[in-house]
Amino acid sequence: PQTHFGFQNVSEEERREKIYQVFENVAEKYDVMNDSMTLGIHRVWKDILVHKMNPSPGTLLVDVAGGTGDIAFRFINYVRSVRERQLQQKLKRHQNLSWQEIAKSYEEEKVKPLGDSQVVVCDINKEMLKVGKQRAQHLGYSEGLSWVLGNAEELPFDDDKFDVYTIAFGIRNVTRIDLALQEAYRVLKPGGRFLCLEFSQVSNPLLSRLYDLYSFQVIPVLGEIIAGDWKSYQYLVESIRRFPPQVRHFSGCTDTQDTVPPESWRQLAYRLSGGCNYGTIIFQEELKEMIEDAGFFKVDYQNLSSGIVAIHSGFKL
Ligand code: SAM
Repeated sequence: PQTHFGFQNVSEEERREKIYQVFENVAEKYDVMNDSMTLGIHRVWKDILVHKMNPSPGTLLVDVAGGTGDIAFRFINYVRSVRERQLQQKLKRHQNLSWQEIAKSYEEEKVKPLGDSQVVVCDINKEMLKVGKQRAQHLGYSEGLSWVLGNAEELPFDDDKFDVYTIAFGIRNVTRIDLALQEAYRVLKPGGRFLCLEFSQVSNPLLSRLYDLYSFQVIPVLGEIIAGDWKSYQYLVESIRRFPPQVRHFSGCTDTQDTVPPESWRQLAYRLSGGCNYGTIIFQEELKEMIEDAGFFKVDYQNLSSGIVAIHSGFKL
């Protein structure tokens, strides 16, 4: 079906331009909208992502499509808490330390609360980064944090640079996901980890119905009320439902089977569902395949909230 954003008909360049406009429009209200659209649950999903990453002090992270810094701030909090725990353990182990030594440890901690850890937030949109920098200032994050304007499809970083690459609610907005995944692979060190948090396919049919109702009926209204911007929020919903793009063209009931790539398990799922391909595990599996195609090993995913979102993980060997 044709949509406001005409996913089927626009060129890559037009799509990129539209997505840029959407995030430019919503930047100021992005965080408020995130909370209202997900009823605050995006915070829990992001916490789970960072716990899964389990970064140790010294980790170098690049958060691509990092927007207003949610993942970066959580990373910093996590590393700080690990450092604090380590300091407490050190003090407990050496109970006979002199007060000068204890003071020195605390002083070091104050000067370098993150140790050598660093996080680079990379986003294509100047407005999102601007709001992110303002938030960082307001919330008191500066140590180990930098902001870089850049496209996920052509990252402005050297090869083999980062320990971890994250992309949260970003990959569905990237025009060429295959290129973005190749870039993720390139900038990671051997042994580095790729983590992607993204909206996915809901497995419970009842929840799926409610979720549809909420997404298509409630979210654009919320967008209009909170941000005065129905269309941008309509885009956000549409982009979630048409992700990943490889399945877009045959995900509607009206498509013919000829449009489905032959010999694939997707075609089977399409047939089993009577030509209406909203199967349960397709999107998660599809993205998993794409990540493997980019060269990653041990690719796996974890569904959260019945598959409303999923975390995909993989390693560069
Ligand atoms: N990661 C943040 C979060 O979870 O709150 C922001 C997610 S927001 C839904 C999507 C972000 O992707 C926007 O900030 C947008 O500018 C960015 N984006 C879209 N296309 C991109 C691209 N090709 N390269 C880098 N960032 C991109």
